[in-house]
Amino acid sequence: MFAKGQTVIQYMEQLAPKHVAMPDDRIGLQLGTLQKDIHNVLIALDINDEVVEEAIQLKVDLIIAHHAIIFRPLKQLQTDTPMGRLYEKLIKHDIAVYISHTNLDVTEGGMNDWMAEALGIENGSPIEDLHTEQLSKLVVFVPKSHHQQVLDAILGAGAGYIGDYSHCSFNIEGYGTFMPHEGSHPFIGTEGKLEKVEEMRIETIVPQGIQRKVVQAMLKAHPYEEVAYDLYAMNLKGRTLGLGRVGKLNTPMLLEEFVQVVKQNLEVDHVRVVGDLKRPIRKAAVLGGSGSRYVSPSIFRGADVIVTGDIDYHTAQDALMAGIAIIDPGHNAEKIMKSKVAEWMREKLLAAKIETQVHVSKVNTEAFQFM
Ligand SMILES: [Zn+2]
Repeated sequence: MFAKGQTVIQYMEQLAPKHVAMPDDRIGLQLGTLQKDIHNVLIALDINDEVVEEAIQLKVDLIIAHHAIIFRPLKQLQTDTPMGRLYEKLIKHDIAVYISHTNLDVTEGGMNDWMAEALGIENGSPIEDLHTEQLSKLVVFVPKSHHQQVLDAILGAGAGYIGDYSHCSFNIEGYGTFMPHEGSHPFIGTEGKLEKVEEMRIETIVPQGIQRKVVQAMLKAHPYEEVAYDLYAMNLKGRTLGLGRVGKLNTPMLLEEFVQVVKQNLEVDHVRVVGDLKRPIRKAAVLGGSGSRYVSPSIFRGADVIVTGDIDYHTAQDALMAGIAIIDPGHNAEKIMKSKVAEWMREKLLAAKIETQVHVSKVNTEAFQFM
């Protein structure tokens, strides 16, 4: 059995939910359709001509990439321009394109955590907070016979996380009363007669971002025609998500040694370095992609060094003066996402006994040559 496009994307969005992306980011389905069977998925950092050729060779139905192929609203689609030809080729070969960008950076267990882990940064927290999850309390009343079914549906949809604990809920017995009226189709009871039913009250906690999904799963699993449930807004905050990670190195070392760790573990041949090579590095920050804007917040967070791409001349000079070191491995260091996303996807597909194949793009999309 092969997965439908929507199923593959559902797995992708469990890893990188859309609602955690930066505002106005270009994410989601950018080209083609998900209403088809997916035999082959290709995971890529960027999509260029070579990647599209690779996808055609592998008979790929869907490319999941990090960087968007459509940035601004298209005013025309001319197929005699390089980008136009790329879109044309993708459409002709029925290859859909789905983008997971800042949502993959921000999410827990995503791009920035993979980079932090590769560099030996322990218990990294965001360099800059982006959103704090708003929490609601969900309470639902369910007949005893369907208690487990509804509880499983609610927790399975992602409710009930408190810190490092999942499946947190409270369940208490009681009885509910109701009287079905004309036009009703009661699961229990008869029209015009007061009913008293043994029920369970389930309560748990739901982050706002998945509230709809959880309520839908609950309603689907619940046997009643009219489900009695409450959603309370709470004066409690959930997890804080944000860009980049900063934390202590598991092994403190000199900047020159850390440079070697970066090169080896992010698999880059060259890095640009700002700072005294003999300075000790205890706390490090990392941010996939372009991080010039995150040098100052990293100083504020007490980092000795920031590892990030696309550093410009003046940012480097300011960093020297401020006393923070920089290691720039290039924007392409984000290629770490290819194998990591593939790993996640393969695990999900395997667990669901789906035959869809996941390929990691072998194309090196680094545009710079180092001479
Ligand atoms: Zn990027």
